Amino acid sequence: MNTQWMIKTHGDPLGTVREFTKLVWKTFDLERMVVPTNGKAEDTGPHFIDDSDGLEALSPCTPLMPINAAKLIPELLEKDSKKIGAMLRPCEMRTLFEMTKQNGLNTDKLLTLSVDCLGTLPTDEYQWRVERKGSPKKLTQEALQFSRQGGIVRYRYRSACQVCISPQATKANINIGILGLPVRQHALITINDESLAERLNMAEFAEGKIDADILEGHQRVIARLVQRSENTRERIANGLAELLPENVATLIEQFESCGDCSTCMDVCPLCDIHYPQRTEDGRFQESDVTRWLISCSGCGICEQACPQHLPLTIIFNHIQSQLAEEFDYQAGISTDDLLPII
Ligand code: SF4
Ligand code: SF4
Ligand code: SF4
Repeated sequence: MNTQWMIKTHGDPLGTVREFTKLVWKTFDLERMVVPTNGKAEDTGPHFIDDSDGLEALSPCTPLMPINAAKLIPELLEKDSKKIGAMLRPCEMRTLFEMTKQNGLNTDKLLTLSVDCLGTLPTDEYQWRVERKGSPKKLTQEALQFSRQGGIVRYRYRSACQVCISPQATKANINIGILGLPVRQHALITINDESLAERLNMAEFAEGKIDADILEGHQRVIARLVQRSENTRERIANGLAELLPENVATLIEQFESCGDCSTCMDVCPLCDIHYPQRTEDGRFQESDVTRWLISCSGCGICEQACPQHLPLTIIFNHIQSQLAEEFDYQAGISTDDLLPII
């Protein structure tokens, strides 16, 4: 059962998210966390934090996503014995869901947090904007200023963000809503487990009753973003129709022109689990590629890394939609859905 709370941000939404995350750390006696931080362009990525003081650098709204942080989770779970935390973007949470299903990754020791995503920029655009603004912090603050409207410069976002199926934080144990909200005054916290809410003493921490108008604004902006993404996805897919593979077998033929490159597979967290193997004739196995792409979360990290700059987000999304229909399976929705046997 969901439990939703409104919290006051006192003019400092980022500071409030940091303080709240510190409360989470203390309440659940976390040993370590993987979180996005607000560093320089070259190191603004997920960082491991061993001490709650390190959360001062926490910055979940920095518009840069160098890797899909879900890739770090299996190692983290293996290494640490106590409870660990991870703050993940919505597409990283979708990836984690698929990872738990693909290889039975046990996440009992993991506590997840997620914040509504304001979108991320390609690295060169991010660097240019940071230089223009003066610091990553200022760029992040600018993005937050527009969170009520759903973010800024969407047409400049990574293509994965322009076609994101959902930027809303809903899948983590603890989800922080900022989209469509007056974030200098309020944020929304949704906890997917009543016992966690009780341990956090949310009744005391939160404001009390949720304002219906504010909640309506939050849902309206998210619905608009999702619709806009869908329209953009359709428009790009139509424009690239000639490039889109007909099916998995045709995609494998396209991979053949990539030579020895396998970067998109190397950077994808889901490929850690089902790395497509080549057959004797050098082709990838159709079943492996199917198992990989049926779970695709649309994070776009593969496209970001592709040395040939291929529009992989749309290509993989096109294949995934076909597989979703064929196998009646939607990726990243729930950990309860069974993966189809392929
Ligand atoms: S794909 Fe969606 S959730 Fe992921 S970074 Fe882009 S907007 Fe955020
Ligand atoms: S295939 Fe690409 S878009 Fe899909 S989950 Fe992997 S890295 Fe993300
Ligand atoms: S990263 Fe690009 S060039 Fe490399 S295998 Fe993937 S699609 Fe081909």
